[in-house]
Amino acid sequence: MTASKILIVEDETPIREMIAFHLARAGYETLEAPNCQVARELLADERPALALIDWMLPDMSGLELTRMLKRNSENDDLAIIMLTAKADEHDKVTALESGADDYLTKPFSPRELVARIQAVLRRAAPSDGETVSAGTLEIDTAGQRVTANSREIRLGPTEYRLLKFLMTHPDRVYSRTQLLDRVWGANVYVEERTVYVHVRRLRKALGAEAADNYIQTVRGSGYRFSARGH
Ligand code: CA
Repeated sequence: MTASKILIVEDETPIREMIAFHLARAGYETLEAPNCQVARELLADERPALALIDWMLPDMSGLELTRMLKRNSENDDLAIIMLTAKADEHDKVTALESGADDYLTKPFSPRELVARIQAVLRRAAPSDGETVSAGTLEIDTAGQRVTANSREIRLGPTEYRLLKFLMTHPDRVYSRTQLLDRVWGANVYVEERTVYVHVRRLRKALGAEAADNYIQTVRGSGYRFSARGH
């Protein structure tokens, strides 16, 4: 297996080199960008699995870069962790809503950084046989079995893929169009209403209580999966 490539977007050279050093030691291949311009070139040429993006960058904010990347479906598989010196909750929410998978507040330890990277990469691509869990829900990806509070839930193949996608991309809002691209595939022609139908089926299968807690409708925007508070 080849090492995952990680792009570090950070203008402060000592911090960028320190991160690169620790990631290389943890077995990752690293790419470095001091600004968004170089970051975009490296993303296109090298297709890294994950980008660490600092919030404060010279040519564009890390937040704007993340939003821009996530608007392009070519970056669907790119995992993003935002690095921020800002610790308040609003910024964390803003980071996640921009499409980042996680955020890390400076200063952080190399060990914590590596642990977060491993978690995000695992969540983005659970290998066969791995269990994905959130709150009381659990997916056994090898057997394609879903349980809630250890009770088995029967799902059709589309509901299964939808739930797996949502559980592996928690706390983010996805529009129906984005869900069509990500769950059904970008080149498949289905009506947006199809998403609504499958979300409704999934909710019904999960049971009223679990459904309302986990799969939230964000009016005018789409759906969000969250296991917070479980
Ligand atoms: Ca910076």
